[in-house]
Amino acid sequence: MPRLRGNLHAHTTFSDGVRSPGDLIAEYERLGYDFLAITDHEGWIPSTYWRALERQPSNLLLFHGIELNYDPLDQHVGKVLGDREILHVLNHPARYRLSVRETIERIGVIRADGLPLDAVEVTDTGHRRPLYDCPEIPLVKIATDDAHRPPHFGRAWVEVEAHRDRDSIIRAIKAGDFALGFSAT
Ligand SMILES: [Zn+2]
Repeated sequence: MPRLRGNLHAHTTFSDGVRSPGDLIAEYERLGYDFLAITDHEGWIPSTYWRALERQPSNLLLFHGIELNYDPLDQHVGKVLGDREILHVLNHPARYRLSVRETIERIGVIRADGLPLDAVEVTDTGHRRPLYDCPEIPLVKIATDDAHRPPHFGRAWVEVEAHRDRDSIIRAIKAGDFALGFSAT
């Protein structure tokens, strides 16, 4: 089974990223990544967003996605689409300075409101936040760049043992069959 490296959280000029989708894809292709999720903010994207993503040529495996805002808590939730599978991520609890207990409570509130959660980011814009990499938080722990601009690209990633298709990658992540990676910068 190949070991595939990817970033599950990135922004383009469709919201507050500085790279066009094409330039962002090229950035991650240069870094040797196998997959990338584009997850622009739901409140910013134009109606053409999803169609535009479909038209992006890409050598790496591209996931379409979106960063939702759970309004009652003003909490960002990543939604990464496979072909059938969907990965939901509690994004950057570190940015909200949540304690572990507050993070667990927040997960409960969001799930009780009907929004599923599979994973939590143990990074903030690619910087490691090990507080959240603890067994008490009942989600798989992922690392992402939350890339908006240089120098965010390539700081933190997941390495998944899976076939090179979107649903296999999402299933492997949900099952915890992956490792985290961090660059020195
Ligand atoms: Zn983001």
